Amino acid sequence: MRAFKRLSTGGTLLAWKSKWRSQPGKSPLSSSNTKVCVVGSGPAGFYTAQHLLKARQDVEVDIYERLPVPFGLVRFGVAPDHPEVKNVINSFTQTAKHARCHFYGNVNIGKDVSVEELRQAYHAVILSYGAEGNRTMGIPGEDLPGVYSAKDFVGWYNGLPSCRDLNPDLSPETAVILGQGNVALDVARILLSPIDILKKTDITQAALEALMESKVRRVLIVGRRGPMQVACTIKELREMVKLPATRPEMLQADFVGVSEALSDLPRPRKRLTELMLKSATELSTDEERERSHQNWRSWGFRFFRSPVQIRPNSDGSRVEAVRLAVNRLEGSGEAARAVLTGELEDVTCGLVVSSIGYKSLPIDPAVPFDPDKAIVPNQMGRVHQAPGLYCSGWLKTGPTGVIATTMNNSFDTAKSLIEDMDSGHLDTSAAKSGAESITDLLAKRGVKRVTFPDWEKIDDLERRKGEAMGKPREKMLTVEAMLQVARTEKV
Ligand code: FAD
Repeated sequence: MRAFKRLSTGGTLLAWKSKWRSQPGKSPLSSSNTKVCVVGSGPAGFYTAQHLLKARQDVEVDIYERLPVPFGLVRFGVAPDHPEVKNVINSFTQTAKHARCHFYGNVNIGKDVSVEELRQAYHAVILSYGAEGNRTMGIPGEDLPGVYSAKDFVGWYNGLPSCRDLNPDLSPETAVILGQGNVALDVARILLSPIDILKKTDITQAALEALMESKVRRVLIVGRRGPMQVACTIKELREMVKLPATRPEMLQADFVGVSEALSDLPRPRKRLTELMLKSATELSTDEERERSHQNWRSWGFRFFRSPVQIRPNSDGSRVEAVRLAVNRLEGSGEAARAVLTGELEDVTCGLVVSSIGYKSLPIDPAVPFDPDKAIVPNQMGRVHQAPGLYCSGWLKTGPTGVIATTMNNSFDTAKSLIEDMDSGHLDTSAAKSGAESITDLLAKRGVKRVTFPDWEKIDDLERRKGEAMGKPREKMLTVEAMLQVARTEKV
């Protein structure tokens, strides 16, 4: 870098720097290219980059990621027993290796570099940093020992460095999960799955060992509304129903009137409800009776109930029960509203996981942020009143939908950006320094970037460690360990 600083100005400097930037296997970049950067390397970041690179030959994309490792929730959210979902990593890897794409891992935007500094350096900045915050229930007892957010619990079993020390207490027999979405079912499944299944996945060894010792035998999954409003999808429900050595434990009263309403439901909802109804009422067959008599683990939905308090034990040292308010529904279908009946009930449990959703957080005071919706306010991915600033993924829409939904909304953001290039709304007339000036800033601030080949060293070591243990990978659990491997010449 120092040598280039001594060069005179303008185009020559940019051309030199562009050459310097190219990595082995990547051809030199053109200084006249439109320089775009993406903040966050989850599905949103990669899909937005992919669309831009494919649609335009004159666009370069740099992807900045806070952690030394890419892929966001594909690595740290998707359940370890869903390896097929993680196949998207293959196409993300192709994008990262594209000649006009560069990965800048271990760079925390908002802390190491401000969004304003990125806007100075790039023609366009796309914020795709996801929803790393946690929705809280706002009820007494929420912070008691034994109560965990699903975000932390999932992060713990998936090796998210910030959750490494969670060490959830799995000694209680009954766990209550608050929320009935797919994440809630992921947590329930991990708590109840036979170890023989889990040990062949990329779940961390620490989580596997804790689950081996787990005493949890019963998981109740609580939701405000009824069986016809449940937020999970059929795949996740089917996995629960088929979980070996477990049986469903539902309340028949929750299903009154459900079979009569089935014919009016839209098809996906109908199939989901049919399966649920079947699992709730099936205990009449011999096989099911036999299953129920054995000492199997159990799980069940608890519908029409809202948590109002997490109750402590007598010395206040940890959770002992969840107090639930019983609801009735007003209206029907998806729009039905839960209304309190005034009735309360306590469910004794020693472990509570609140799975009521993720939320995006502001990372830089200079970026518009809607605190009520917890998103960056935008129109088709164009951030309000901030030309050249875009957003995609969960930061754009809120934390809903699967990877395919995120892909579509990210493609839409890329299309908006391309439209703005074509219409002249995005000013690309002056050359921009792109990563070169940011690299200078990082060097001054002592931040060491992780490149994609660096990540591949981490990836390779994790896979080899996993292979020796009969699993697809054994994840590194600290940023320090990741950086150490990234810095080695050969592993
Ligand atoms: P993320 O995946 O969260 O990516 C955001 C990235 O930004 C992260 O890498 C983060 O480290 C980075 N970042 C954050 N802050 C900064 C910063 N300041 N500077 C730089 N980088 C930053 N979908 C499915 O299709 N199938 C599933 O089985 C499935 N399972 C899921 C399980 C869980 C527990 C969760 C929570 C979600 C699951 N999803 C699943 C949904 C899927 O994960 C999301 O649709 C998708 O990950 C959203 O992508 P994103 O890029 O917006 O956010």
